[in-house]
Amino acid sequence: MQKSPSTDELPFLVLAKSIAQSLPSPRSSTTDAISPLSVASGGTSMPAVSIEVSIGSGHSFFGYFVQYDITLVCPLTHRSWTVSKRYSEVLAFRQRLVELRAAGDLAHHLEEALTLPFPKKYIDAEKPHVIAARIKGFEAFVGHLLALYTECALPGSARGALTGILADFLQVPSDIQDMTFEAPAASLCHDDCTICIDAFEVEDVAVPGGVLKLSCGHCFHRDCLHDWCAQAMTCPVCRGPITRITGLYDRMA
Ligand SMILES: [Zn+2]
Ligand SMILES: [Zn+2]
Repeated sequence: MQKSPSTDELPFLVLAKSIAQSLPSPRSSTTDAISPLSVASGGTSMPAVSIEVSIGSGHSFFGYFVQYDITLVCPLTHRSWTVSKRYSEVLAFRQRLVELRAAGDLAHHLEEALTLPFPKKYIDAEKPHVIAARIKGFEAFVGHLLALYTECALPGSARGALTGILADFLQVPSDIQDMTFEAPAASLCHDDCTICIDAFEVEDVAVPGGVLKLSCGHCFHRDCLHDWCAQAMTCPVCRGPITRITGLYDRMA
């Protein structure tokens, strides 16, 4: 088994990262944008997808390969997770979506992600400018997929086959996949979020998932819980494990 070189031994990755920062983001040619990532974030704009590059080990011509470590932030819960993909995996997934589009009714949803310019295949794929273009291309493409997944997961939308296919590829954590929505109990307005000690307001539940209820029944502001979950996946009050998240959403608010 060949030893993989560490990232430090490969200055081309560092160079690729810095080239990527100077590149513009690819844009979709469709006009009816699904306004990625601002969908349910309640107005706060946050980068939903960021990408690092590293060396993966495994079977390849060179004995190692460049992998793209994609960190995604759930627009509903603001929880983040990281998935590592090779170029070939992203390309193959895009091809699968192209086939789904050809099959019919998902066409409209997929259109925007599929009209984004996709980074090309190269024989000499380890050139920094090739990697840089892939970083930018994947940020946009995966960002659209995440927005699409979120759209599918919002209350009132039909969770079709596409939801599962996207969840698999994006490796959406199970507690986010299983997230459900319900109207807040009338008693919620008498409670405080125990993390920030502020009372829950009507505006907090006017966006899907602005207030999150955990398996144990305790409720928190999404942003307060996000910071907490960076430390531990347990309830801040009772320390029970977070296995299920319910988004509180009052359509009338
Ligand atoms: Zn709070
Ligand atoms: Zn609890």
